[in-house]
Amino acid sequence: MQRLIYRSAKFRVYPSKQQDAHLRHLLEVGCTVHNLCLYRLRKQLARDKCVLPLENSKRWSKKKHFQQYYQQLPTWFQTGVIRAADRQFFATLRDGVPHFRPKVPTRYHSIDISAGFPIIGGKRLYIGAFDGLRIKPHRPLPKDCQIYQQTLSLDGSGRWFYLVRYSTVIDIPENTGTAAVGVDVGCRTYVTLSTGEAFEHPHFGNSVRERMHALHRVLKHSSPDSARYRVADIELQRIVTRLKDRQKNFMHQLSRQLVDRFDVICVEDLDVKRMLQKTRTNSKLFDTILDSQWSTFISMLTYKAESAGKKVIRVPAYHTSNLCSGCGAMVEKTLSDRTHVCPHCGLILDRDHNAALNILKRGTRQDTAVSEVVPTTVHRNAISSAPDSTTTTEVTHRSK
Ligand SMILES: [Zn+2]
Repeated sequence: MQRLIYRSAKFRVYPSKQQDAHLRHLLEVGCTVHNLCLYRLRKQLARDKCVLPLENSKRWSKKKHFQQYYQQLPTWFQTGVIRAADRQFFATLRDGVPHFRPKVPTRYHSIDISAGFPIIGGKRLYIGAFDGLRIKPHRPLPKDCQIYQQTLSLDGSGRWFYLVRYSTVIDIPENTGTAAVGVDVGCRTYVTLSTGEAFEHPHFGNSVRERMHALHRVLKHSSPDSARYRVADIELQRIVTRLKDRQKNFMHQLSRQLVDRFDVICVEDLDVKRMLQKTRTNSKLFDTILDSQWSTFISMLTYKAESAGKKVIRVPAYHTSNLCSGCGAMVEKTLSDRTHVCPHCGLILDRDHNAALNILKRGTRQDTAVSEVVPTTVHRNAISSAPDSTTTTEVTHRSK
């Protein structure tokens, strides 16, 4: 079956010293233009109570003060910067008027490439009048892909990347497999499967949290123009990028493993934003949720499954921990109760394993195509994440 999919790719770019300085200069000018655009939009909103995207109104851009900066930008960056300001303004309009981007230290770190497509020739990336930027094309783009967005971006560690979003038509393999699994994400174990397997939570954030708090304190108490502020900011950005790299690497590997093993993956439809709001008073839990990046993990699962012709089913997340997967009765628990003990049917299970089984049940009920569920055995009186079938009585649950 052929299907149109949207993907993105990210390539590392190694500019020379001069190119790096030039790109950073462009970022600085871009930041000024961006802020001028926001200023204009805010003024217009305050005066007229109604505002149009700047991209559509050319008259205002003739102003001399604006042109003085705008003209410094190459054509392939000019439209992009206005478009980005429009995007930021209208995206944040509901939550309040957007903030300007501070210039020092720069919080403006991506260049939208708009006019003309850059060309990757061998190991060089050609944009506009730029001499070729050295690039590492670690995987080829599909031949017939349609590129719709391209960005050059600078990360906190000073690394440049070329980001490209494209659509392409791929052949999705026909998959009639029915191996289904329920996946419960959690704070103690990162993922618990309905088969009983548990994957440890890496807690990457723990090793750097103290240092990050200290650096945040420095930033809070020093002036943005001082050297002390700049040094702390650079170190903080480095730590954050390294942390993100490690988290992403872990999530890519785990999601790949799950997609390779199972045909139907059932996950909870979590509202992480709301969870974070609710746990504001419990800083430890708050940090762990932030460190877990469940939404990113689930979106990785989803797109990997899509390409492989497999399915990810999101199920409602209410009471998955409290319901008994054996008899369906409600068994109230606090967060610290790690074991599910059902007074009605006598089922004793690890808390997360019980939740994963509930998720699987809900998922298979939603998806009628999966009639036979593979891991259907639950072990009575066994508190074990890896079931041992020799000594326990097996109860088979049919999906309803
Ligand atoms: Zn029960």
